[in-house]
Amino acid sequence: MNTGKITLDTLTPSWLPTQLEAAMLRLDKLDPDISGNKWFKLKYNLEAARSEGKQHILTFGGAYSNHIAATAAACREAGLRCTGIIRGERPPVLSHTLQTALRQGMQLEFISREAYRDSRQSFENRPDTYLIPEGGHNAAGARGCEDILSLFPTGHFTHILCAVGTGTTLAGLINSATATQTVIGIPVLKGAGYLEAEVKALLHPGQTSHWQLLHDFHEGGYAKVKPALIDFINTFFAETGIPTDIIYTGKLVKAFRELIHQHYFADNSKVLLIHTGGLQGNLSLPPGVLSL
Ligand SMILES: *Cc1c(COP(=O)(O)O)cnc(C)c1O
Repeated sequence: MNTGKITLDTLTPSWLPTQLEAAMLRLDKLDPDISGNKWFKLKYNLEAARSEGKQHILTFGGAYSNHIAATAAACREAGLRCTGIIRGERPPVLSHTLQTALRQGMQLEFISREAYRDSRQSFENRPDTYLIPEGGHNAAGARGCEDILSLFPTGHFTHILCAVGTGTTLAGLINSATATQTVIGIPVLKGAGYLEAEVKALLHPGQTSHWQLLHDFHEGGYAKVKPALIDFINTFFAETGIPTDIIYTGKLVKAFRELIHQHYFADNSKVLLIHTGGLQGNLSLPPGVLSL
């Protein structure tokens, strides 16, 4: 994968006060299917599979999962077979995400929501198979995300903001940030108080950066798409030319604006937003809703 496509863009939306600086690390530019943080979470997992001599990757997700989309594309590129265990009955018409995964050679197996919950054990003993948990949430996933901040010189930023699902990406950022930086996670799920412990479990003992999860910016919860969010995404794109997604990065940028309104950032703060990609998820909307 060519990380040379990633850029660090200065952000100057109309609502940015002059006493703040902002930039966005555009992981979304990596690849249309393996976009953003998912590739970083996969890279050491695929490497581990290879070094264990395993030719088959098995992982888990829902019908619109960016992780499923990324795994299918990354395995195709790496020449590994892969299976996606998909939560829920097989629908009559597959989502865009699943159709793309199939085209890229991923095998799909649909299992009931009840079976999904304790699915890990039931797949553990398949021969020649390397298991990646849902969302790439493991130590190898976090380690991959430690490489994100060294793509560009980022040491001068005072704050690093990132959208949070499982917290794996955030853990990698916290582990690699410096002692003078504050890493802020914006969970997109409602009631995600369990995340503090999940993130801590992936941190290095000597980690020195400050970090915080801000739980008030989920916009109603995972995959809830309110008109105000759609408007925000459309306006941000019109102003900056940067597309964001309805599940993660749109909420991240909207949270940034709200934090500015709350005077969260001291004058002269330099804020780095991580664009974690996920734009394929926007294809779940009817055409014309977003003007990206
Ligand atoms: C999966 C995903 C996240 C969340 O990553 P975690 O490591 O699970 O917290 C953020 N942004 C996008 C676009 C994603 O697809």
